[in-house]
Amino acid sequence: MNQKQLEQKLTSLCHKDLRSCQNAELYHALLKLTQELAQEKEHPLGADHKKKLYYISAEFLIGKLLSNNLINLGIYSDVKEILEQTGHNLSAVEELEPEPSLGNGGLGRLAACFLDSIATLGLKGDGVGLNYHFGLFRQKFSHNLQQEMPDPWLENPSWLKKTDVTYEIPYRNFTLTSRMYDVQVTGYHNRTNALHLFDVETVNESLVEDGISFDKTDIKENLTLFLYPDDSDRAGRILRIYQQYFMCANAARLILDEAQAKGSDLHDLADYAVIQINDTHPSMIIPELIRLLTTEHGFEMDEAIEIVSRICAYTNHTILAEALETWPIEFFKEAVPQLIPIMEILDDKVRRKYDDPSVYLIDREDRVHMAHMDIHYGFSVNGVAALHTEILKEDTLHNFYRLYPEKFNNKTNGITFRRWLLYSNPELSDFISSLIGEGWKMNADELQKLSDPKFSQNAKVLYRLLSIKDQKKNQLARYLKEYKEIDINPESIFDIQVKRLHEYKRQQMNLLYLICKYQEIQEGKLPTTPITAIFGAKAAPAYTIAKDIIHAILCLEQIIGSDSKVRPWLNVVMVPNYNVTLAEKLIPACDLSEQISLASKEASGTGNMKFMLNGAVTLGTEDGANVEIHQLVGDSNIYIFGDSSQTVIDRYREGSYRSRDYYEKDPIIRRAVDFITGPQMMAAGNSESLKRLSDELLNKDWFMTFPDFQSYLKAKEQAFRDYENRTAWAQKMLINISQAGYFSSDRTIREYNRDIWKLS
Ligand SMILES: *Cc1c(COP(=O)(O)O)cnc(C)c1O
Repeated sequence: MNQKQLEQKLTSLCHKDLRSCQNAELYHALLKLTQELAQEKEHPLGADHKKKLYYISAEFLIGKLLSNNLINLGIYSDVKEILEQTGHNLSAVEELEPEPSLGNGGLGRLAACFLDSIATLGLKGDGVGLNYHFGLFRQKFSHNLQQEMPDPWLENPSWLKKTDVTYEIPYRNFTLTSRMYDVQVTGYHNRTNALHLFDVETVNESLVEDGISFDKTDIKENLTLFLYPDDSDRAGRILRIYQQYFMCANAARLILDEAQAKGSDLHDLADYAVIQINDTHPSMIIPELIRLLTTEHGFEMDEAIEIVSRICAYTNHTILAEALETWPIEFFKEAVPQLIPIMEILDDKVRRKYDDPSVYLIDREDRVHMAHMDIHYGFSVNGVAALHTEILKEDTLHNFYRLYPEKFNNKTNGITFRRWLLYSNPELSDFISSLIGEGWKMNADELQKLSDPKFSQNAKVLYRLLSIKDQKKNQLARYLKEYKEIDINPESIFDIQVKRLHEYKRQQMNLLYLICKYQEIQEGKLPTTPITAIFGAKAAPAYTIAKDIIHAILCLEQIIGSDSKVRPWLNVVMVPNYNVTLAEKLIPACDLSEQISLASKEASGTGNMKFMLNGAVTLGTEDGANVEIHQLVGDSNIYIFGDSSQTVIDRYREGSYRSRDYYEKDPIIRRAVDFITGPQMMAAGNSESLKRLSDELLNKDWFMTFPDFQSYLKAKEQAFRDYENRTAWAQKMLINISQAGYFSSDRTIREYNRDIWKLS
């Protein structure tokens, strides 16, 4: 892109020139130009390969798109320079772009990284999801409590393009007309694919009042207002069925239409389409496709089942029992009764073949197990990290693994380096290129060259690595000051835990540590270097204990903030509304990456990979992809602590864990837990919430923080001591970066394509 093109666009949009225009006008012009350039790389239907991947997901946590698209189109530095020469600043323009909150956490971000890699590898694959008007929610803190607000993003100008694709989607007593909107997905120096987001035109945004509450029964007006509407009541749960069916019914029609347009007679659908079902939210695609083939295209039931089973592949993302979706049949009866006879036939076939109730689709209580449908009627089942896949095979899905060992495979997650290094950390990215050339951008394994002693033993290289980290810490400090009115000391150690708030991720264990640290400092035991502990996390609106943990962290933040003796040595900060934009700023600035889930519970994690790539050292359990990180970097470049997944699984099986025993025996734990309901916290916060959290820890502690606590404390203290030897720490940083290549989502997508999709 050159200056003239940008000038012309500005003139046609707002009759201004580059020097006189406002940032908002610049944003508009850049968006339109980017869309035009991306469009030149689209491959209209049928213009290239026959077979296409449909990646169906309830979430796509795509982040802001302007800079990402500029990078992928190869014009980022040109645009940056043009703006600078005309008195503008690209980061200021970026600030105007709203971030779509179309995802919740790792699963949605994974889908976004995958779309980037699919396009970058030149594969033909589109995302299919829903166009939520207010996303998940925007998080605010008030009186040390989380507040949820709508998070609108559909402003003009928008990346979303209206298409003329519409369908009639049938429900029990009404029909909705859908419309497809597209977001372009640019590949890095490669093709443009699409993210198809379906919506209904009757959605009424003014239904929302008082935070994020709305009339849950008015489906025509509420269907796509929010991602994961509150499901603590029946109306909310049925709304989720309406949403899921809407996503699947639209996807099914699109897939059949596109295949037929390319010449398929649908008997050969497998030559035209492969579907990746991202977790169980899109599982209704299976019965819906079978229904369409039998009722509208004249297929016999058995053949329809056969066709669909050859094109569907399922990704499992969790072993948490409460997260494996099951829906009562009566919910389907109310919303989409047409699926029931199909699901009954699918269940019946299983029952006739296997005499094992644990693998039936429909259980004794008339609940449909969505994952069971995916496993029986898909050709591939994958976990998302080596340990996770082993646990699926040996434990959670063992009875299915015995039936279909050939369907099970592992695909360790990955992240796109375009967003999580080239964009978020250009300083580090350029430094890497200055050492090993640019090849790593297309072939991430080349990062291994960095572990050569000529770099790892080179004082200049190590010094530069540390000074880039300092630079990123200073940038973060300035950003938090300017935009969030948060003060942090860039000379302190940045110890960061950012991810969804969930008990299994154990933010509460980090909280207990910080309470201990606070008590120690009060008693005069000072750390060598001051510590800044940063949290970022949204809690699901109906997840009470998660909100209690946020409350306790915010109360501790307030207590320490007003303690002039401790504050210079320890600062606790919880940033509101953790999202991709914040992640892009926090992660490059991190020294110590907290990945402290209870072993066996975190399927993979991808935050861990982003941190490692940016030269943070991991403090973690042997869980999810931490296991693979540990293997790659070796014992001396990671801090591993805590019980193994096997110990944890055995302890659950025995049912022998009593948290109160630890509380009674361990004075450190006792003092920290007592602090939660002590006078300082009670004065800062809400006694009911603090008491509930303390009771939960003492009487249940389902995710076993106490057994791991001493080992966590020890590992963390060791990390802080090691940080003092700056050269040795810089070597750890370098080794982490050099081994991060395995976690490029390009590698993950190559494996999906090689083993599952087989696109040419
Ligand atoms: C990467 C990412 C996540 C996932 O983090 P985990 O630590 O793997 O749970 C969640 N939210 C955002 C905004 C992310 O960028």
